Amino acid sequence: MPSPFATGSTNRFGRSSFGGGVSATNSNTRVILHGKVPANVPAVRSNTSTTVNLGLNSERSRGMMIARLRKQGIQDERVLDAMMAVPRHLFVDEGLASRAYEDAALPIGYSQTISQPWVVARMVSAMCENRVPVKVLEVGAGCGYQSAVLAQFIKEVHAVERIRGLYDMARDRLRSLKLIARVRLTFGDGMAGLPGVAPFDGIIVAAAGIKIPQALLEQLAIGGRLIAPEGSTAQRLILIERTGATTWRREELESVRFVPLKPGTQL
Ligand code: SAH
Repeated sequence: MPSPFATGSTNRFGRSSFGGGVSATNSNTRVILHGKVPANVPAVRSNTSTTVNLGLNSERSRGMMIARLRKQGIQDERVLDAMMAVPRHLFVDEGLASRAYEDAALPIGYSQTISQPWVVARMVSAMCENRVPVKVLEVGAGCGYQSAVLAQFIKEVHAVERIRGLYDMARDRLRSLKLIARVRLTFGDGMAGLPGVAPFDGIIVAAAGIKIPQALLEQLAIGGRLIAPEGSTAQRLILIERTGATTWRREELESVRFVPLKPGTQL
């Protein structure tokens, strides 16, 4: 049986150029319903070729991002440490690097986005609350940022991406950060999960479907947790814990806005 672990052979860590913006329905972001805090949907920006060298400043910017996440209620030190360690600016286009530590989703090409830092922190924290997951699955790797965060403290991270160009981008970025051995990336339709690798202690779905795929619920270990956005225009984060062989407990969390979960693959 072929290995489910994609290895790849090229090393083209470099920045692709993609213009385009991100719309309110395409942002992997939190939705604030009562207008107190802006939803942080970034303004559309044209692509620029300006080189933004964050250099040493990136550490300070990350520190500010972590302080903000704490204020927003994120408490899990494993998650905060992991997000402090991962250089988010290396996962976005050079023209957007200076905005990488804002609390905003940003375009990564192919009409997809890198999730808002708060959304990443919230999902990972909820999945890991009161447990130490050893094997997790991420559906929708995108540019690989959340996989890199998970790989900081989770032993076995499996991530699936359905768009070939993004799969390549994630692989190259994870490789250049020496994380590719810890994140097993698969190009494919993550709605089917990875039956050959299951059960998972945790599953994070980074794109919104009308319903959470049953295959993913079945691939959760008993006691494991899955977190996913659910809905079409109105979406919510749903936290599911598998309580027994045929029982799952469901909890609805915040309103969010994610890119759609789609079947099949895109070359
Ligand atoms: N996890 C990313 C978020 C990427 S956006 C981050 O760290 O920021 C969500 C991603 O889900 C997109 O790249 C999209 O192509 C992918 N996606 C949507 N449906 C999918 C499916 N069925 N299988 C795998 N990936 C999927």
